[in-house]
Amino acid sequence: MDKIICLGKNYLEHAHEMREETPDKPVLFIKPPSVLIEPKENGSVLLPWGRGAIHHECEVVFKLYKKNIIGLGLGLDLTLRDLQKTLKEKGHPWEISKTFKNSAIVTPIKGLRDFPKDWQDTPFSLRINGELRQEGCLSQARMKADEIIHYINEFFPLQDGDLVFTGTPKGVGPLQVGDVVELTYGPISHSFRLVDLG
Ligand code: ZN
Repeated sequence: MDKIICLGKNYLEHAHEMREETPDKPVLFIKPPSVLIEPKENGSVLLPWGRGAIHHECEVVFKLYKKNIIGLGLGLDLTLRDLQKTLKEKGHPWEISKTFKNSAIVTPIKGLRDFPKDWQDTPFSLRINGELRQEGCLSQARMKADEIIHYINEFFPLQDGDLVFTGTPKGVGPLQVGDVVELTYGPISHSFRLVDLG
């Protein structure tokens, strides 16, 4: 793997909840592989508490091989939202709000054949402490699978093993120490806990 490519504002309702103008096409940004974490079932994830709100963005994740989708997972694209807001207001790049350690959380990736044929219509969801926080399906997004690959290929050389975070539906919000996170999508059902250093 060389990189994690992320789409922003691929779901209109999320763009609206951010109260920001919607660009013609989704925004693109990159996270380095060093911020990726694939927590074990019932494992734990350490986050940088004390740097302002850490928001969850629940997103379908593609694994690529030769520019094709060979596997799917469900991920959390994490954002230091206060820092991002400040940077956006100044017109600065907001990359550093997205690239802290463990800011890209992904379930184990499953092969496409483990999913229903209509996997883009298959619902995914994020529950926190048993409460539904986000749900959607990729077919509700502005850009779907084939178009996403075509679009990102215009701007980035795609390498085998690269991951793509495909954008978040509405319902983003802050995480807390001790939260139990549950990600569900097709054959995937994966839980882990957010922890503090102490
Ligand atoms: Zn995102």
